[in-house]
Amino acid sequence: MGARKNDPEAAAKGPPVGVPLPRGNVFSDVEGQPGPVSILTAALGNGRVAHAYFFVGPHGVGREMVARRLAAALLCTGRTPNQAAHEVCGSCGACVRVDRLMHPDVHLCLPEAERVRRGLLAWDEDKKPSMDIKVEQVRQLRDDLRLTAFEGGWRVAIFPMAERLRVEAANALLKTLEEPLPNSLLILCAPDKGAILETLRSRCQRVAFSPLRPDTVATLLTRRTGMDPTLAAAVAADAQGSMAQAITGEAQRAAETQQEAHAWLQDLMGATPSELLVRAEALEKDREGLDRMSRALLRHVLHDAEAQLPVASLQGDAALRARRLLDVAEGVLNLRAELARPGTNARLNLERFMLDAQAALRG
Ligand SMILES: [Zn+2]
Repeated sequence: MGARKNDPEAAAKGPPVGVPLPRGNVFSDVEGQPGPVSILTAALGNGRVAHAYFFVGPHGVGREMVARRLAAALLCTGRTPNQAAHEVCGSCGACVRVDRLMHPDVHLCLPEAERVRRGLLAWDEDKKPSMDIKVEQVRQLRDDLRLTAFEGGWRVAIFPMAERLRVEAANALLKTLEEPLPNSLLILCAPDKGAILETLRSRCQRVAFSPLRPDTVATLLTRRTGMDPTLAAAVAADAQGSMAQAITGEAQRAAETQQEAHAWLQDLMGATPSELLVRAEALEKDREGLDRMSRALLRHVLHDAEAQLPVASLQGDAALRARRLLDVAEGVLNLRAELARPGTNARLNLERFMLDAQAALRG
C-alpha cells in the first residue's frame, strides 16, 4: 500500500511481506486448514469464486495468508497452459507484487493502529492512530473497486480484522456487497460470527478456519522463526492454536518466565535435602504448577544457552554454567517423559529430579 504502490520498480524492491508465495499450488504451505484450502481450490478450479467470503476463525491461524494466496491465484499472469487455477508461477509481476503487498488491485483494509504496528504507516506523534476501520477507508475502497482493474481483471479487498468495522463503516461496505461488481472479491476475516453485522455476513460465503494443533504451531515456529524445537513445543502448548498468540505471547512470557525460573533455580540451589523433598511433594499434587515450572525452566535454559552461543567456544565459568544449566534441562526433559508414562511413580521421579538438579547446579 502507499503512494508508490502502482510503481513496478517499487514493487521489485523490498522483501515479501509474510510467508513468501510458493511456486505451483498456491496453498501448498498452508498448514492445518484442509477445509478452507479444499473449498477455495475447488472454487478456483470450476471458476466459481464467490464475490464475498467470510473467513471465520481465530486470529493467527492463516486466514489472511489464505486470502492473499487466493488473490495471487486470481491475479497470476505467468501460469502455463497446463497449470491448474490454484497454481501460480511465483515470479510474474503480479505474483511479486501480491507477495510484497504492493499489487494495485489487492487492497488490505486495516485500522490505522494495525498499519502502524505493521510498519505500513508512519507513526504520527500528534495523532493517536484509530483502532477501528474508518468509514472514509471503506468509501475510498469502494471507489477503488469501481475503477477498472490495473491488471489481471480481478480486484480483491481483504479485511484481516473485519471485527473492527464500526456500524457506519460496515453499512458503507454493505452497499458494495449489495451491488457486487464483476471480478471483484471481498474477503472479511473475523474471529466469530457475532463479530460482524449479520447483514454483511449473510452476503458472504462462510469459510471456517480452525485453531491450529499445538504440533502444527510448533513446526511453524521452528520453520518460520528458527526457534529451537523444544522451546517451540513449550511455546505452542500455551498458544491456543494461534501463531499470532505464540509469537506475541512468547515475547511477554519470556521475560516473566525468565524471572520465575531464575528464582526457582536459586531456591533449588539453597534448599536442604528435607526442603527438596517437601517441594517434590508439593509439585506432585500441583500438576499444573509442575508443568509451568518445567516449561519455565526449559525456556530459561534455552534462552540462556542461545544468548551464550556458540557454547563450544565458551571458557571457564561461562562454560561451566552453560553445562550445568543444560544438565538441568536434560533432567526436566527426562522428568516430563517419565511422568507421561502410565503407572509411573511421580513422587520418586520428582525427588530424583530435585536432587540431581541441585547436584548439577552446585557442580
Ligand atoms: Zn505469477
